[in-house]
Amino acid sequence: MKSKLAFFACILGMQLSFTTLHSQTIQDNGDFLLIADAPGEGFENAYHLLADRSRIIDMLNDLNSFLALPYNINIHFQDNEGPYYYQGNIMMNYGFLNHVYSVFNEAGYIETQEDLDMILDVVEFVLYHEIGHALVEAYAIPITGKEEDAVDGLASVLISEVLEDPEMALVVADLFALQDEQVEEFEEAHFWDEHSLDAQRYYNILCWFYGSNPEQYQSVIEEEGLAQQRAVRCPGEYQQLFNSWGRLLAPYIKE
Ligand SMILES: [Zn+2]
Repeated sequence: MKSKLAFFACILGMQLSFTTLHSQTIQDNGDFLLIADAPGEGFENAYHLLADRSRIIDMLNDLNSFLALPYNINIHFQDNEGPYYYQGNIMMNYGFLNHVYSVFNEAGYIETQEDLDMILDVVEFVLYHEIGHALVEAYAIPITGKEEDAVDGLASVLISEVLEDPEMALVVADLFALQDEQVEEFEEAHFWDEHSLDAQRYYNILCWFYGSNPEQYQSVIEEEGLAQQRAVRCPGEYQQLFNSWGRLLAPYIKE
């Protein structure tokens, strides 16, 4: 992992410059805890994919070494419920891994065992998203606008800054594009839902990925159909996300 360094070290820098504003010091009274239930029938492959590749454990170890939490936050993998966050518990489900597998498999993405890593790319993104909700509650972080979009932004920043392979953001964007293609007709539920539409989440994630390093990811604009009118704003949008989440998390970074 190029890990931690960029984002968390940068936050640590922010923390120093904000210590005069934030005189409170946070006690580290908790961790992200992984609870993985034995899988029921039909969920064994998903369970083994998670268990055999230690990515989730590595991810949580990193977060625990950097973030001071006021209480434990449980990440509960089980068959069907989730993904969502509720009162100190993140519910993640093997059924969601099955869903991602079937979407990618139908699209012809899964040909080798290595391709299964794409499923874990999505799981990591979704877990960062749910962790975002958990942090908003744990730290009483002020959010204006849609919290769902805000925590997609946090997940995008963490993927870009913390992970060895930020291109996994493209895999996540792809899932939203493929799910959008499955929609035959928009219903009211698409509009009252607290999440942005899958097509919007696709373009947001794409935009922030491109914005995180415009020189390196220039080709993404043409290949993925991100319009110039949006693309020109993406580096600024990404920088704003980076700075905002950095400031909001700064008081809780362990030195
Ligand atoms: Zn959410």
